[in-house]
Amino acid sequence: MPMKIARYLGQHGEVLEGVVDGDEVHEISGLDAMLRGGRRVGGKKKLAEVQLQPWGLGRKIVAVGRNYADHAKELANEVPKSPLLFMKPASSLIGHGQAIVLPPASVSKDVQFEAEMAVVIGKRLRKASDAECAKAIAAVTCLNDVTARDIQRAEIQFTRAKGFDTFCPVGPWVVTDLDWSALRVQCRVNGVKRQDGNTRSQVFPLPKLLAFICAGMTLEEGDIVTTGTPAGVGAFQAGDTVEVEVEGVGALRNEVRAE
Ligand code: ZN
Repeated sequence: MPMKIARYLGQHGEVLEGVVDGDEVHEISGLDAMLRGGRRVGGKKKLAEVQLQPWGLGRKIVAVGRNYADHAKELANEVPKSPLLFMKPASSLIGHGQAIVLPPASVSKDVQFEAEMAVVIGKRLRKASDAECAKAIAAVTCLNDVTARDIQRAEIQFTRAKGFDTFCPVGPWVVTDLDWSALRVQCRVNGVKRQDGNTRSQVFPLPKLLAFICAGMTLEEGDIVTTGTPAGVGAFQAGDTVEVEVEGVGALRNEVRAE
């Protein structure tokens, strides 16, 4: 049974984990609980009353470029022969409901959304087979791979363009036991649909992507791997509200504001 697990702030600013049940969240004990079914140890709270926090319990966020042929085409790029990897820093993570902060116009005039399905790794992976990688996927979530497109085009490396603070919204929670192979991925800006794809049209299927990554770079428990964006990317402005929705997970919503 798929289970939604949220991270949120407790009464004293501590980060708690809990199972989402309707409009409530029941506190449980940690990532272990997520992997082993969970024990409801604490109190219940109304979801609307808690401040959700991003996942990102591991050390890294690994991302892949041009993993949907239609998106590679819209940016006039070739579909790569092997996955094109980059990373986003943990300092760019924010949760559902937190603001994406635009850099000043002198730094970037073209900040864009990229709706993506991301997964949380549940077991250390090093030189693992496709099948071992598939088994190590602990949960699925929504991720917005926010990108300063003008900087990305101007520089060879993606790190600066995709690494600004607040450029990695994740959430609103993670979902266990979800079949990630055919999920609809959408983006809406101010309620208007801008992207509508499906993970089944990814160039590199997820187990192959994970095997490719961990052939050289160990994936640790809690690391996030985000799997690329479908066609339809575009810019947003201060005052906009951006939603990334992954089928079976829900919608990750963030407002955009100027620095
Ligand atoms: Zn992306």
